[in-house]
Amino acid sequence: APVLVWLRQDLRLADQAAFLAAAAEGPVVPVYVLDDETPRHRRMGGASRWWLHHSLKSLDEGLRQRGSRLILRRGPAHRELAELAREVGARRVHALAHVEPWWRNAERAVAKTLDLVLHEGQYLAPPGTVLTGSGLPYKIYTPFWRALSERMPTHRPVPAPGRIDAPASWPDGDRLDDWTLVPTRPDWAAGFRTRWTPGEVGAHERLDMFIGKASRYGEWRNFPSVEGTSRLSPHLHFGEISAATVWHSVADAGGSVSTFLGEVGWRDYAANVLLQMPDYAGRSAREAFERFPWREDADDLRAWQTGMTGYPIVDAGMRELWATGWMHNRVRMIAASFLVKHLLIDWREGERWFWDTLVDADHAINAVNWQWTAGTGVDSNMFVRIMAPLTQSPKFDAAGYIRRWVPELSDVADADIHDPRIRPRGYPAPLIDHPHARARALAAHAGFKAQE
Ligand code: FAD
Repeated sequence: APVLVWLRQDLRLADQAAFLAAAAEGPVVPVYVLDDETPRHRRMGGASRWWLHHSLKSLDEGLRQRGSRLILRRGPAHRELAELAREVGARRVHALAHVEPWWRNAERAVAKTLDLVLHEGQYLAPPGTVLTGSGLPYKIYTPFWRALSERMPTHRPVPAPGRIDAPASWPDGDRLDDWTLVPTRPDWAAGFRTRWTPGEVGAHERLDMFIGKASRYGEWRNFPSVEGTSRLSPHLHFGEISAATVWHSVADAGGSVSTFLGEVGWRDYAANVLLQMPDYAGRSAREAFERFPWREDADDLRAWQTGMTGYPIVDAGMRELWATGWMHNRVRMIAASFLVKHLLIDWREGERWFWDTLVDADHAINAVNWQWTAGTGVDSNMFVRIMAPLTQSPKFDAAGYIRRWVPELSDVADADIHDPRIRPRGYPAPLIDHPHARARALAAHAGFKAQE
C-alpha cells in the first residue's frame, strides 16, 4: 500500500529520514499541508510565505526528477492527511518531528486516525535528549553545548534517493499559485529574489560558498559590512539542508570552525528551550517581567520598524530586514536591544515584527534571542546591560553597511556616519538621545525591581 510523507519544515530529499523509511515500504505520496485555520497554529509571516512558495516549487522539481511529485493540501493537517490517506489507500504517515507547539498538537491529532511514524533529523541531536547528569534539561547554553558536543559527530548525512516510487495514480492537489503566498501589489519581495535561492539546491550552493571561508568565521562574523557568516538560516529553518550536513561539511573542511559549530548548536539549544517552555514566544521566562512598565508608543514602534529611529546602525538593520528578509546577527542584537531598552517597548512587539519580516523566522530561535537580548529569558539577566548603538557601530566598522542601507547618509564621511551631527535632509533626528534613554531604562528597571 502507498505511504504518506508529511512535509513541514524539512523540505529536502537528502538526509531526510521520513523519505528513507517511506521508500522502503512502498509507493510514496509526498504531501505538504498549509494550515491557516487551526486556532493557535501560528500563521506564517509574510517573508516566510514568500520563501515557502519557492521552496515548495523547488521540492516538487526535485521530486519530479525522481519520478514523484508533491501534493498540496490546505486545512487542518489531521483532516487533510486522513482524507488523502483514504483516497490513496494509505494507513501510514512518515514525518520528521518538530518542536513548535502547534506541530506537536497536529502530530497528536494525526496519530489518532493514522499510523504516524516520527523521525529525527531537524537538529544535531533530538530535542529533549541532551540532559544533565541527573536527567534534567539544561537551562543555560554553555553547559548544554558542552554536553551536545560530547555527542558529536552526529550521523553522516544520507544522500537523496535516486528514484521515489509513485502510486498507481496521483491524487488531486491544490495549485501552488492559488495559495498566493508571494506578494504582487505591492511587490515587496524584489530584494528577496536577488539575494536568495530557496530550496535544496540553493541551500547546498550556499553551503559550498561558505565552506571556503568557514575558518575565518570567528574573525568576520561580527562585521556587518563583510559577508562573513553562512546565511544558511532560512535554509536551515525550512529544513532544506540538514544540520548534520552542515556540521559534517564544515568540520571536514578543517581549520578553526568551532565558533561556527557552536552557533549551529544555539539552534539546538533554542529548540530545547521551546520544548521545556512551549509559551516562550508569549511570556517572559522571568515571570516578574510580566509586570514591567513597558511603554506603548505606536509612533516609536513604527519608527523602529521602518528604520527611521535616527540611529544609523539600527536603521540600516531594519531596512536590510525589510528589503531582504534577513539582518546581520550583530545588528539584530543592536536593533533588538534598542527597541527594548532605548524605547522601552515590550520585546514581544519586536518578536512579532521579526516573525513577519524574516525569511528565517523561527518560533524557537526568535523567542530565545529576543528574551536573551531583553534580559527576560531563562538564560540571561541582562536588562541593565544597555548596548550603545553609537559605540557598537564604529567598533564593528559598520560605515559601509550603513551607506548601503541608508541612502540619505551616503555622502557622509566614515568618521561621522555612525552619529551624523549634520542631519542630511530626509534623515530623522534621534528619537531619544542615548544618555537619556539609558537613564530612563535604568530608572524603569530600578522601580520595577523595588516592587518585586
Ligand atoms: P551563521 O552565523 O552563519 O550561523 C549558522 C547557523 O547557526 C544559522 O544559520 C542559525 O541556524 C544558527 N544560529 C546562529 N546564531 C544563532 C542564534 N543566536 N540562535 C540560534 N541559532 C543561531 N535566527 C533564526 O534562524 N531565526 C530567527 O527567527 C532569529 N531571530 C533572531 C532574533 C534576534 C533578536 C536575534 C538577536 C537573533 C536572531 N536569530 C534568528 C539568530 C541569528 O541572528 C541568525 O540565526 C543569523 O543571523 C543567521 O545568519 P547566518 O545563517 O549567516 O548565521
